[in-house]
Amino acid sequence: MSNNKCSIIGASHAGVSLAMQLRREGWPHEIELISDEMELPYHRPPLSKDLLLGKKTLDQIRLRPEKMFEDNDISLSLGKRVKAIHKQKKKLIFTDGKESNYGKLAICVGSTVKKIPLGNQFENVFYLREATDIKKIQSALPKMKRVVIVGAGYIGLEVCAVLRQIGIEVTIVDIAKRVLERVTSSYLSQWVRKLHEDNGASFILETGVREINGKDQAESVVCTNGKALDCDAVFVGIGVNPNVELAREIGLEVDKGIIVNEICKTSENDIYAAGDCTQFYNSLYDKVINLESVQNANDQARCAAVNIAGGSQIYESLPWFWSDQYDAKIQMVGLNHEAAEIIVRGNPNVSDKNGLALFYLKNSRIVAADCVNRPKEFAAAKQLIQSKMHLAKSILEDESIDPLTFKDLTTHS
Ligand SMILES: Cc1cc2nc3c(=O)[nH]c(=O)nc-3n(C[C@H](O)[C@H](O)[C@H](O)COP(=O)(O)OP(=O)(O)OC[C@H]3O[C@@H](n4cnc5c(N)ncnc54)[C@H](O)[C@@H]3O)c2cc1C
Repeated sequence: MSNNKCSIIGASHAGVSLAMQLRREGWPHEIELISDEMELPYHRPPLSKDLLLGKKTLDQIRLRPEKMFEDNDISLSLGKRVKAIHKQKKKLIFTDGKESNYGKLAICVGSTVKKIPLGNQFENVFYLREATDIKKIQSALPKMKRVVIVGAGYIGLEVCAVLRQIGIEVTIVDIAKRVLERVTSSYLSQWVRKLHEDNGASFILETGVREINGKDQAESVVCTNGKALDCDAVFVGIGVNPNVELAREIGLEVDKGIIVNEICKTSENDIYAAGDCTQFYNSLYDKVINLESVQNANDQARCAAVNIAGGSQIYESLPWFWSDQYDAKIQMVGLNHEAAEIIVRGNPNVSDKNGLALFYLKNSRIVAADCVNRPKEFAAAKQLIQSKMHLAKSILEDESIDPLTFKDLTTHS
């Protein structure tokens, strides 16, 4: 076996992008892409959207056709879990006892859902991360009439939107004061909550879950305020933890994620990392961040590939994310936590099908935007944030001005 091989642990958004980019960079050696999942790599976001809704099948959401891996001479090892890394011997040890050598290593192991210590004995308490989860959920869907969702983050809300669209009663319980509290402004939180309420969902916020009770199946959720909610299934979507164990065991620098530098390299020569499992410095926001997004997984992985192949590229990214809920395509760009002001473009009324855009300003400059059914504003916001240019608030608000012309109306100060 070649010692020049690049082994990639994890064959999802980051792993697949990294492997493909390595070939584009002219990497002449073996590439092994290793996944502990049995499935040919697939897009993860549709799991809580079109796949759950039954609009698409797994085969329609593959990241690449199988043939493309063969054509690029990428050996795809499915159903194989790396148990440990031997960094001195440059070896991977698998759970079945087998070993394999590497020359360069990329860790793209993503994250794992956080669990609650309740109801895990019941088959109708669901978490959603993988294709195997969706198979279980889909077979139970026809029996669901009333569902409790624990967690009002993106996954919980997307699952809620799907369940409401197929007529299932939904109550969402969250300890937070507002929906999407961790990721966006209270303005968008209120808008999204109203969207769900208009579609018939109920919320119990600032409240935790004390018990999940039932005989053979979960039948009720008891909240910390004592309220019992009868149900025939429970979904839990309370966030993820980056998978850092493999890296920590071999002494790589790890904090909330595996720490990578500006070229996506870990603290060890020849070991790179990309995607949800990493933590890194973002120069645009002068901040150390972890991101759970397809954009970051793909872009960071491509950058890592360039550097593994001997090139020189710095990872400078503008984070962006999207979420589909009912007819609303919500697109977010940038980090809005430190914004001092919000400019609203469009009608904030949820029933207005033209959507709206929220521009977040800090020192009169746009640092982030949330757009609902506003692809042009989203594209314009990306440009404005990256160019660090200023744009008058009156222009941002003025619906008669085409967002695609914003870039021509900017000023330096
Ligand atoms: C339901 C859902 C909806 C989402 N919706 C959106 C969205 O709308 N927009 C968006 O931007 N993002 C969304 N995300 C987040 C996005 O999917 C992740 O940010 C992205 O998948 C990260 O890619 P990754 O390759 O870093 O990690 P992952 O996709 O987590 O992949 C890591 C892979 O590594 C494998 N692995 C882990 N450890 C080992 C090991 N020891 N040996 C072998 N294999 C291993 C895992 O099984 C997994 O297949 C969503 C996520 C979920 C779960």
